[in-house]
Amino acid sequence: MVDLTRPDDTHDPALRSWVESAHDAATDFPLQNLPFGTFRHEGEAQPRVGIAIGDQVFDCLFAAREGLLDGVDPSVRDALQGRALNGLMALGRADARAVRALVSRMLRADTVEGAAARTYRDRLLVPMTSVSLLVPAEVGDYTDFYASIHHARRVGALFRPDNPLLPNYQWIPIGYHGRASSIVASGGAVRRPMGQTRTGNDAGPSFGPCANLDYEVELALWVCGENAIGEAVPIARAEERLFGLGLLNDWSARDIQAWEYQPLGPFLSKNFVTTVSPWVVTLDALTPFRVPAVVRDAGDPQPLPYLDDTNDRARGGFGVMLDASLLTAKMRVAGLPPHRLSRSEAKALYWTPAQLIAHHASNGCTLRPGDLLGTGTISGPTDDARACLLELTRRGADPVELPHGEVRTFLADGDEVIVRGWCERSGYARIGFGECRGVVQPAHPAG
Ligand code: CA
Repeated sequence: MVDLTRPDDTHDPALRSWVESAHDAATDFPLQNLPFGTFRHEGEAQPRVGIAIGDQVFDCLFAAREGLLDGVDPSVRDALQGRALNGLMALGRADARAVRALVSRMLRADTVEGAAARTYRDRLLVPMTSVSLLVPAEVGDYTDFYASIHHARRVGALFRPDNPLLPNYQWIPIGYHGRASSIVASGGAVRRPMGQTRTGNDAGPSFGPCANLDYEVELALWVCGENAIGEAVPIARAEERLFGLGLLNDWSARDIQAWEYQPLGPFLSKNFVTTVSPWVVTLDALTPFRVPAVVRDAGDPQPLPYLDDTNDRARGGFGVMLDASLLTAKMRVAGLPPHRLSRSEAKALYWTPAQLIAHHASNGCTLRPGDLLGTGTISGPTDDARACLLELTRRGADPVELPHGEVRTFLADGDEVIVRGWCERSGYARIGFGECRGVVQPAHPAG
């Protein structure tokens, strides 16, 4: 049996591709990555499944029609000719692994498959800048967790200085059901929401544009396979249900949130738009970058048995680095580069993705192909790892000063937030997630 915990020849840093841009030092998409996504050719209505290589998109529909994917099962070829990743996600990780391995051979400079594929180059590959990159799957359900204890502690301290971490936090993964209808791909507009807020304790609430618009840097967990309703997913098998990871920005209206969140949690403060990156980095591409789960202090609660697994403790974490940068309208006009607001690491998450999946299904809740789980804001212990403005500015008390003189407590119209993620490890090729970005548009006035 293949040991999936060990890197294989698809991770070899010495691999050479006939796609020149796959060797750019700055690319997120070398041959060792090969993330899946959904794209639309200019002038075409129907989306297609694609795979990122350098600055190009590998067109799976074209490859299948030309017989270049005859090396995989017909059901897999059918899935790759769908309009989103749901078909491949329904089949599961083993089939995605077979596709990634085949496409790796097809894009190599030293293989028979590579020589054959290269003759189709002009139609097999399309420049990434010439297509629309879409939400990778049709999302049936979206859940957002709260898995960073550093984020939970800081946010808790702002609202409950005497009691920052609620007593359930170290026992149970906290989450809420989000809204699949307002998930957009990177680059999609972020309209400042209208909403009900109450400032001060005496005045009544009012309805108007959100004044405390924020972002949250998260990882997107894309679900594959399906458990029947009533069937749990044991933690030891939870990663079979994780197709791959992307980036996610959970835009948040803090003033609306503060007024509406008790007692049932966030509602309209979180569901006006959620941005995801278009490329899903598979768990196979991430094999070299797995890290142990966070080790809990001896005196802290240990996970209950249904959330505890030896392998998950040993390698349930992901060594993903995350940056958030801000580009204001003034900076854009002046030609200034984005200013980095934070750098944090997914390995600091208190709960692993496998624990989040096992917990989500522990009551028999069905998780279906294309379902999306957000990790929650991925902050770290240090001040430069505060991955939202609520933490960075301490709810507006400490404004962020930008290098050119502008100041922010929360986001202004015209501000663009750019989230990037990548993995690095000595002896392996760096792989990246691409970008998750969005520009804040002015609110629509109440009509
Ligand atoms: Ca969130």
